[in-house]
Formats: sequence, structure tokens, C-alpha cells
Amino acid sequence: MSMFELEEAHTEYTTPTGFRATSPASGGLIEPVFGAATSADVIRACQQAEAASAVFRNSPCEVRAALLEAIADQIIALGDPLLERAAIETGLPLARLTGERGRTVGQLRLFAAELRDGSWLDLRIDPALPDRLPVPRPDLRLRKIAVGPVAVFGASNFPLAFSVAGGDTAAALAAGCPVVAKAHPAHPGTSQMVGAAITAAVAAADLPDGVFALLTGPGTAAGAALVAHSAIKAVGFTGSRGGGLALMEIAANRPVPIPVFAEMSSINPVFLLPGALAERAAQLGAEFVGSLTLGAGQFCTNPGIVCAVAGPALDAFIASAITALNQAAAAVMLSPGIHEAYVRGAAQLAGHGAVTPLAEGIASDQPNRGQPRLFSVGAADFMADPALQEEVFGAASVIVRCADFDELYAVAQSLEGQLTATLHLAACDYAQARRLIELLETKAGRILANGWPTGVEVSHAMVHGGPFPATSDGRSTSVGTLAIDRFTRPVCYQDIPKALLPAVLQDNAVGQPRRVDGVRLA
Ligand code: NAP
Repeated sequence: MSMFELEEAHTEYTTPTGFRATSPASGGLIEPVFGAATSADVIRACQQAEAASAVFRNSPCEVRAALLEAIADQIIALGDPLLERAAIETGLPLARLTGERGRTVGQLRLFAAELRDGSWLDLRIDPALPDRLPVPRPDLRLRKIAVGPVAVFGASNFPLAFSVAGGDTAAALAAGCPVVAKAHPAHPGTSQMVGAAITAAVAAADLPDGVFALLTGPGTAAGAALVAHSAIKAVGFTGSRGGGLALMEIAANRPVPIPVFAEMSSINPVFLLPGALAERAAQLGAEFVGSLTLGAGQFCTNPGIVCAVAGPALDAFIASAITALNQAAAAVMLSPGIHEAYVRGAAQLAGHGAVTPLAEGIASDQPNRGQPRLFSVGAADFMADPALQEEVFGAASVIVRCADFDELYAVAQSLEGQLTATLHLAACDYAQARRLIELLETKAGRILANGWPTGVEVSHAMVHGGPFPATSDGRSTSVGTLAIDRFTRPVCYQDIPKALLPAVLQDNAVGQPRRVDGVRLA
């Protein structure tokens, strides 16, 4: 079988019929009907992306910076109808979506600034040393280049900031990689509006059509075919552990395997140290419930477990959290599927022999409402059953009661990889905190003190990543400018004649930071 036939065999699947989005708030279907991507659509999008790849990779940084800014402007120009459509499709309030749109255009503009700065290229020049003994050194010049077309899977929980024009797309386009985006089926209308905005910006920049394509449709076939296609060189994904693992398997079993940057599941442990609990237990209890129930708990950084040493101070924290949680209303979740998964996960916790239900929020008879839930478990039982470490996506959390600091430290040691780990501490807790931080930096992408993990800044120093299963590759981030690294590859040019070297590696190139013989020059 030839490579081409193999690819066709990989990507052929039965075309689903058109579909409508569901309004999670009402449970009803929303017009219009959207077409579902066929095998031919997937292949066409991948081939066009491949055809656009060289032009886009070699486009000047300024062209791509202007493209990202134009996409941001086009998204803003969509106005309120974009926010209204996203609100109907996701159940998220308009105020939240307004903020999320600001974050989306903000991160596109941040990547534009990053392109103009140029440090992401990591330019290095080691000039030739012809007289060096015992052997001369050749002229060596390094820059980073785009890896090629990237498949981006939009996340359900950020219909703007982590979907079609979200962080993965912004990072890939910034690097010079064409993007084939797979819309999340829970918000197809939002995805199409944003996809059209990107397409318009690409056309206005006079770049090839293949720089961006959007595939819509429910079911896993289109996404699986996309990841299997030989034109695709990397994958960005946010969603379930099962979905991420399935895409990793497809990517690893291709004739030419590719990297998958999947953000999957995290329970974001919070450690309450004794000094902090003694100072402000009641306040911490109320703040915790605020973080837990924010956005119906549908954040990847939602605090899924809280660990502390048992005693009167922890009792005061729990009493305050119960009071706050009892007043928290059941909130509409993103989709019927996510609501079902939440109800199932919370029921499994409630039915676990070692777990004690502590509190429930206000119930609702409306569809797809997630009722906040709080549980507690002893540390030994928690460590004995890995199922208790599984993410329950929504406003459910477990308080892990520890006998002493050694047991709390053992709980931390037992944890899988996490996006975040949080410490609440006072000055008297520094000795314990130091030990925990040393451990937690091996477990989490971000460690924070005296705050709550929900709320992720888009900036240069942010890390939204972490060891498996938080992500499939803990060496990177999906939020912040460092995300561009995932879609680049270093190339060294040895003794290449000056006339053939890329412009940024010429001796007289200006404006981009570089290291010459190891010395950093502005
Ligand atoms: P999902 O089911 O993993 O789906 C995400 C995207 O991946 C969708 O476009 C889906 O396509 C596609 N996909 C999933 N499995 C696939 C496969 N085997 N082959 C090809 N494509 C595949 O995630 P979700 O719909 O957003 O939410 C479901 C659960 O994911 C939640 O209940 C929660 O547990 C978790 N989640 C976690 C986070 C986080 O940040 N930690 C964020 C969101 C969701 P189709 O839907 O069209 O099949």
C-alpha cells in the first residue's frame, strides 16, 4: 500500500448528517443546522494547509503579527451577536463572555508583540574558529522554525479564549504554522463566526487560504482523521483524559508520529497550612467555595481537593465552607454531556464507602444544572484509592483530613501531575511550605501562595501545563507566550554561505535578540 493509499484508508469514514447545537439552559435544539465535515473536507483542509505551509513559515514576523492583530479586530467587529450566540450555546453569562472575548483578543495581541520582540526565535551564532586547535570550529547558526500544520481542538469550557481563535491557534499562527481547527460540537455557531473572522483576516493579509481551516461536526471521526493525516505535524487539545489519550494513540501510531499537546485533567490540590488556618479559617472557607463554584466549577484549574491537618481550625474552615456551599445555586453547565459526567462523578464520590458527603448547594429542576457538592475523606483512604484522584469536572471538591504534616506531605507525594498546586500559609508555616514547594514543583506547572487557582493570567511568565495527566507533555504551557515553543523546532545552519542564510541569521541583521558565541546581545 502506498503512503497516499494508507492516508486515504486512515481518513475515510462515514459522513455524519447535519446537526444542531443544544441550548444547555433550556435543553432544546438551536437553529440553524450545521454541516458535518466529511472525509473529503478533512483531506482538503489538510492538503491546503500543507500547500500554505512554506509560504507561511517563511513570512516575516511582522506579517504574522499584523495577521494576529487583524484577527483580534475582526473578532471585536463581530460585536454583541458573537457573545449572544456563545451565551445560548454554552449557558455562560454575557459578562463572563465579554471578559473572555477581551482575553482572546488580548492574547492574540500579546503574541503579535512577542513576534516583534523576536526572542522566541532563540537566535544563536557561534562564528567559525578556523585557527582553533586541534580542530577548527565551523560557522554555526541556529533559529527556530515552524513545525508545519497544527490541528487544534477547541475546548468546550472556553468557547472564545480556548476555542477556534484561542491560545493554541494564536500560538501556532504566531510560530508560522497553518491551523486546521476542529470546532467543539457544543458551540458550532460561535466557532463558525470566529472561523469566518480568521478567514477574513487571512484573505485581507493576502496569505494563502490554507493558513486556516475550520472543521465542524459531532463525533470523533473527523478529529481522528485530522490527527492521522500526514500533513499535520502537531496537535493542540483541551478536553477529557479519554479524548486526549485517544488522540495521543492515533498520533503515536502514524507512519510518522507527531507530538500531541493535550491538556486533560487536574484536581488542583490546595494545602492549608496550620498558621494560615489559625489566622483565617472562616475566611478561607468562604473564598474556597467562591473559587469552587465559579463558572459552575468548569475550569481546568478548579480546586478539586483541599488538604489540611485535622483539628479545630480545619473544623472552622469546613463549617464556613458548608455555610457558603449551602447557599450556592446549581448553575447551568456547558452541555448535557458535561452535566451527565458531573452527576455521575459526584454520585461516585457520594457512594464511595470512605467518603463523607458534607454539603450540597441549592438544587434546581431546570435542565443541565450542576448542584455544587462538598465531601471529605481521611488521608489514608484517599491514598488507598486512585479513583479518588480522578477529576470531577464541575463544582465538586473533597477535603482530605490528615493526621499531621507527615501525612499531608504523603498525600502530596501520592498525587498525579497537576496544572496547579496552592498553598495557604502564614510566616510561621515557611518551614513546611519550603518542603512542600520542593515536592510540588515536581508535580505541578504552577504553584501559588495565598490565592486560588481559578483565574489564569495570559502573560510571559505563566505556565498552564504540568506533568501527566494534567497534560501529555509537561515541558510546555498552553497559556502565555512560551506556548509558541510547542510549535517550533530548532534548525542549525552549518557553514552555509551568507547569501543563502535566512535574513535573521545574517551578521548585519538588527532588531532581534541573539547570542553570539554565547554572549547575549540585544
Ligand atoms: P472531550 O469529550 O474530550 O472532547 C473535546 C474535543 O475532542 C471534541 O471536539 C471531541 O469531538 C474531540 N474528541 C474527543 N475524543 C475524541 C477521539 N477519541 N477522537 C477524536 N476526537 C475526539 O471533552 P469535552 O466535550 O470538552 O468535555 C468532556 C469532559 O472533558 C468533561 O466532562 C471534563 O471531564 C473534561 N474537560 C476537561 C477540561 C480541562 O481543562 N481539564 C476542559 C474541558 C473538559 P466530539 O465531541 O465531536 O466527539
